[in-house]
Amino acid sequence: MLQEYAMDSDSSDDDGENGKEKYFRQNIDGATARFKLTKEEWERIPIKTFPSGGRLLSGDWTRIFLSKVKESNPWCSLRFKNNHVRSENSRKIHSAVFFRGGAECKRPECNVKVRFVIRKEKGKHVDVTYVGDVCHNSQPGVNDVTSDDKTINRFRRNYST
Ligand SMILES: [Zn+2]
Repeated sequence: MLQEYAMDSDSSDDDGENGKEKYFRQNIDGATARFKLTKEEWERIPIKTFPSGGRLLSGDWTRIFLSKVKESNPWCSLRFKNNHVRSENSRKIHSAVFFRGGAECKRPECNVKVRFVIRKEKGKHVDVTYVGDVCHNSQPGVNDVTSDDKTINRFRRNYST
């Protein structure tokens, strides 16, 4: 009897998946996109150099990237995770890409990650690769973008980088 009861309560956890669809889903895993960066946009993206030789994109790069990513993914609100510009004296200068960066969706229930690659110094294109599918809770009150910080504890999950 006890066991049966336990099983019942287990299966009720899946109600959200089986009943009325309360998630917005979009399959984009593995999708690629590309956007352009104009000379004017590069002028708003200064490259910051650290005494250690490390380099980063700075200035408006996140704002510019976010607005361009909307063209291929209008659903996710992204948070940038890493940002790496090839160092000037890299021995692999001919093979290494100029910039690698990453971002992930701010929503805890969504596992979309985005990878950015710029092949050449101040290249004209940014290559975008999506990992994971869009899954957004569409329940009223929870999908409010500004409430992300409050809901993150309720849906805390393990992000592997
Ligand atoms: Zn998302």
